[in-house]
Amino acid sequence: MQRERVLLRGGRVVDPANQVDRITDVLIADGRIAEIGPALDSTGARLVPADGHVVAPGLIDVHVHLREPGYETKETIATGTAAAAAGGFTSIFCMPNTRPALDSVATLDDLRQRIAVSALVRVFPIAAITAGRLGQRAVDFSALVEAGAVGFSDDGDTTADCSIMRQALAATLDHGRPVMVHCEDKALAPGSMHEGEVSRRLGLRGIPAAAEEIVIARDLMLARLTGGWLHICHLSTGRGAELVRRAKADGVRVTAEVMPHHLLMSDQWVDTSRSLLNVDEPIGPTATPRDPHTKVNPPLRTGEDTRQLITAVVDGTIDLVATDHAPHGAAEKTGSVYEDAAFGLSGLELALPLMLALVRARHLSLGDVITRMSCVPAKLWSLAAGTLSPGALADVVVFDPDQPWIVDAAKLKTKSANTPLIGMELQGRVKHTFVGGVDRYGT
Ligand SMILES: [Zn+2]
Repeated sequence: MQRERVLLRGGRVVDPANQVDRITDVLIADGRIAEIGPALDSTGARLVPADGHVVAPGLIDVHVHLREPGYETKETIATGTAAAAAGGFTSIFCMPNTRPALDSVATLDDLRQRIAVSALVRVFPIAAITAGRLGQRAVDFSALVEAGAVGFSDDGDTTADCSIMRQALAATLDHGRPVMVHCEDKALAPGSMHEGEVSRRLGLRGIPAAAEEIVIARDLMLARLTGGWLHICHLSTGRGAELVRRAKADGVRVTAEVMPHHLLMSDQWVDTSRSLLNVDEPIGPTATPRDPHTKVNPPLRTGEDTRQLITAVVDGTIDLVATDHAPHGAAEKTGSVYEDAAFGLSGLELALPLMLALVRARHLSLGDVITRMSCVPAKLWSLAAGTLSPGALADVVVFDPDQPWIVDAAKLKTKSANTPLIGMELQGRVKHTFVGGVDRYGT
């Protein structure tokens, strides 16, 4: 694909890293941001009218399951990165629970070759904490960072052994990449949804909030002990956020992410609700209870948890928003009863519209959303991204923040449209996703 000159004309340019939020033009040339300013010369450039649209640094998702190698029936690097581009993401981190797991230099080398062939956006691998993700033997952290790992996670499972977690966190002091933890005490969590009033009413076994909070507390203590960089994945409870808030105040080096579904949906969705919380936007008719598309881990929690998590995003306790895009085939979702269905939601193409609902409800500004979905991850991981500064790589998203659209499984780019939002109306549509100046989504 040619790296063309592109002039984005008259969009609302939101570039929080440079405190920019104004209507102006952006010129892309040679894969980089060439110039920002009013009425730029369009000679030799493809003109992209952007009036009414937002032009922002490309989004960065630090938590994606691409499923390749090993589970290509669910997703591939090609389809997952196409979904990323459709969602406005220019960089994504992929989780290591593939087959084989990403636990060795050889598996990372193999992945790098696959990415070079088929990825539409930048892909950065997260390696496993333990060999085979079995929780028994730590990987060679430094060798894997050399091979390109940007973090370590046994996501999907919690590394139960405290001495391995201590070793993993201590190693971050040498290699500078975080340990990204899935916090769940499996002994407490044999259920399939949040444990509470709704699970009791539906007769489903629950996963208590404490199953998550106990491990968050443990890992915060180990981060304090080692001084290492702990990153909490998919924080879902208000009490968990409070633990992180206190630890940050005490100087513990912890960062945390939250998923849009944990800010806008509650366990009521496992029953019949299809209203987004905190924004007062019913987006569909009520559903039948126990829709496997509402099954996710950590589970959708209570309305009170969603409110506390939004507060934690606003006050900076939660550093960033990611998706935990977790594709599964229909047989593992709708073909199953709730208890047997796989955990996970498709997220890449839905995250931005969901976050824009929080902007319309004035919980966050547009700049806050771009900050949490682009600038902060770029800064934390020292990526050459997250800004529209002249000279920066032209990783740019152009989106219409108001355009309504119906979520249609057949039109999503992901191979597995496992989301309770199918058939619902959302607002906010990506128009173009430029990666290094190449438009990977727009037409
Ligand atoms: Zn995950």
